[in-house]
This record gives sequence, structure tokens and C-alpha cells, in this order.
Amino acid sequence: MKSKTADYPTARLIEVFSAIQGEGLNVGTRQIFIRFALCDLRCHFCDSAHTWDTPSSCRIEQTPGCRDFETHSNPVSLPVLLEWVVRQNHPALHDSISLTGGEPLLHAPFLEQFLPQVRQLTGLPIYLETGGHRPEQLLMILPYLDSVGMDIKLPSVSGENHWQAHKEFLQHCYNAQIEVFVKIILSQQTNSTELEQAAELVAAISPKIPVFLQPVTPLETPHYLGGAAPMPPSPEQVLTWQALMKHYLLQVRVVPQTHKMLNQL
Ligand code: SF4
Repeated sequence: MKSKTADYPTARLIEVFSAIQGEGLNVGTRQIFIRFALCDLRCHFCDSAHTWDTPSSCRIEQTPGCRDFETHSNPVSLPVLLEWVVRQNHPALHDSISLTGGEPLLHAPFLEQFLPQVRQLTGLPIYLETGGHRPEQLLMILPYLDSVGMDIKLPSVSGENHWQAHKEFLQHCYNAQIEVFVKIILSQQTNSTELEQAAELVAAISPKIPVFLQPVTPLETPHYLGGAAPMPPSPEQVLTWQALMKHYLLQVRVVPQTHKMLNQL
């Protein structure tokens, strides 16, 4: 008999758990979160710096929402992850599965095989949360996605600069006619010119694509690399920047990280 770990693709994970989505178009919905290890970016505002490297083990919730985690060693084989997700999938509880990180697209070869199977077994839609800078990897799994929340990284806030990749990435999502929205983190240091450039980038693809402006959440344990930690924008700055973007786009919403207010993971 074939073992569950032999000859199967593997992924490096941080955790699997059930929680309320706190950001973007899916805010307030219940999701099974699969948090992948590794990220190739180093955003100044990152609240997930523990995902940048692969831990020797990952934690898996046994009962959805109960935080009764058990620990397993990394990497995790495809059938084992399937089993964990199916175990979380209690009847009528979840709205979708969230692929998050880190950067889930660093696991695209794994996801290409995992996603069709998890869709078939759970019947749940698949939502990808991504830095929005890896269009080639996106194309590998696009047929299995139902919605995408992608970042546009403003260099003045994140320290990252990926304009061309963001453009290609968003165009692929739009062409595939799947639900897509853009998230942009705002801080006191946000540069209005960059914000306008982001609005133009989205509007050139479609002014109907929703954009979420998310004021940076003050970090309890800063992981930023050099310089001062990004500070949340003032109420006046937020109103000014929303107005600026509404010159180009039909939907510009300001929503903070609501899961932090609910003390969720
Ligand atoms: S893309 Fe996300 S996980 Fe990676 S450094 Fe930026 S905020 Fe952190």
C-alpha cells in the first residue's frame, strides 16, 4: 500500500485554522485558512514576519474555531493537507477556503495539484490572498480560483516596488473574469503620487475593480527593516486619499483590519 507521504508533492505550512476573514471583499465571512510559509517580499508593515522562513513544524486546528492546535512537522504532503481541510469542513460552516501566507504563490506547483482536489472534496470556493507580484505563478492556478485579493505595494509605505508585475497580475485576473479586488496599505508616509499611479493602473484595466484602502495596523512587535515603523494615517489623510482615488475608480472603500478588532488570528 502507498504511504500518505511517499511520492506526493509537499508544501511548507505555518498553520491551518477556521476564522473570520477581516479584510477586503470577503470581510466577515467564515473561512478555512491555509497559511503557507515563505515570502519573497519584506514589507515594512508586515504583521506576518514569522512566515518569511519555514518553521520545522506547523500547527493544525483540530476542531474549527476551537484553537485546539496539534503540531506536525514540515513539509506536509498533499493527502495529509487534504485530510486536515476536509476535517475542518463542518456542514454549512465555511464560506470559502483562504490561501494566505507569506506568499501562497511560492507554492504554485503544489497548489496546481492540491486545488482541484480540495475543491472537489469540500465544494468550497477558493480565495487567494497575495502580494500580487507573481503573474506567472498565478497563471498556473488561475483556473482553480474563485476570487483574488491582491496587494498593490506602494514603495513609500511597503518598501517594495512591483508596478509592472501588479499590472500583469491584475490583467490576468480580470481576463479570467474571476472576482478580484485590490488592497493598498496606507500610512502617514503614503505618497499621493504613488496612490494616484495605483488608481490609474487599476482604472486602465477596469474602473469597476474594487479597491480597499487599509490604514496600517500599528505593530506590537515591529519587523520592519530599518527606518521608522509606518504609522497609521490621520483621518484627514484618509479622506483626502479616498477622494483622490475616486476620481479614477467607482469603488474605493476604507476598511481597517477588522479581525484584529475581534481579536481573531
Ligand atoms: S507580502 Fe505579506 S507576508 Fe510578505 S512581507 Fe509583505 S506583508 Fe509580509
